[in-house]
Amino acid sequence: MKLLTRIFRRKNCGICGKKPVNPSYYYNDKDEKIPVCFQCVPYAERRAYRKV
Ligand SMILES: [Zn+2]
Repeated sequence: MKLLTRIFRRKNCGICGKKPVNPSYYYNDKDEKIPVCFQCVPYAERRAYRKV
């Protein structure tokens, strides 16, 4: 299943939609694993996304 999610997930930042340079991974409110670029990490933290 890990492979499937990797195929279906976009690599873009889950918040700003840009290609992240050095992404961290968070679970969003839908329990989806999303990459978050370093600029959006504070935003992810504010929204209480759980870090992977
Ligand atoms: Zn971003």
